[in-house]
Amino acid sequence: MTKQEIVDLLTKLDMAPSKKLGQNFLIDQNIIDFIIRCVEPQSGERILEIGPGTGAITQKLVDKGVHVTAVEFDYRLAGFIRDRYKDTAGFVLHEADACKVDYDELLGDESYRCVANLPYAISSVFVSVLLNVKNPPKQIFVVLQKEMADRLAAKPRTKAYGALSVRIQALYNVEVTRKVPNKVFHPNPGVDSGLLDARIKDGDVPSQEFRKRLEEVTKLAFSQRRKQVKKQLAQRFQMSFILDFFNKNGIKETARAEEITVEQYMKFTAATLEE
Ligand code: SAM
Repeated sequence: MTKQEIVDLLTKLDMAPSKKLGQNFLIDQNIIDFIIRCVEPQSGERILEIGPGTGAITQKLVDKGVHVTAVEFDYRLAGFIRDRYKDTAGFVLHEADACKVDYDELLGDESYRCVANLPYAISSVFVSVLLNVKNPPKQIFVVLQKEMADRLAAKPRTKAYGALSVRIQALYNVEVTRKVPNKVFHPNPGVDSGLLDARIKDGDVPSQEFRKRLEEVTKLAFSQRRKQVKKQLAQRFQMSFILDFFNKNGIKETARAEEITVEQYMKFTAATLEE
């Protein structure tokens, strides 16, 4: 849809874009086509789309024969999407807050990917939720605030590296593939966005128990990032266990959270579960 078509649709739905709901709709056909070229949707595959909104990405996925499961919180947009795709095979609309959905119940054991232009306000909570589901997506390809995308792809020893960087990189190879200028949205969000491409790593997906423990470990570790990480971890684990692990794995006793690699966090988490 062009900007004018979106403005007209929103008028018809008697709504104004909500800042709180991150309603910045894609109006640039080139970026929509670019996303679709990157995603390479396959006919018959399942894709989870968060916030279909006015259907900019949804329509392209449906055109390719994708079975879309869409989660939309805004009841007016949900009504519009439900009506638009009521006769589309494989299309499921779930009207809910994407951070509160039980994705294992919604998607079962079926293999799927997640594609979305995410509302800014929920992006970190939503990614966090998705990382802990029993059956995580094979790929997460999302438009995100650039700063958030950079955080997810951040490497150790950088300011952007944090708990969510570790957790997503434990499961996925993560890349920010390009910057998205703010003029491709209506209304203009005033900040640049980025395309995040996270592809699941080869091998078995770490168990849900492991991923939940990793969340606990990283949250603790990064809770006071300027302090020595051992002190944070000692709130939950024995100091002797922590120091023994650090010594055996070449981690300085004075290390800060950001100096520990994803692999080391994973190894530590596994060790805590063996205790
Ligand atoms: N996909 C559309 C596009 O690219 O033009 C719209 C993207 S817009 C950035 C975000 C969409 O997410 C809006 O449709 C908004 O109503 C919806 N949304 C906001 N918060 C949500 C939540 N907690 N759960 C599900 N959808 C939400």
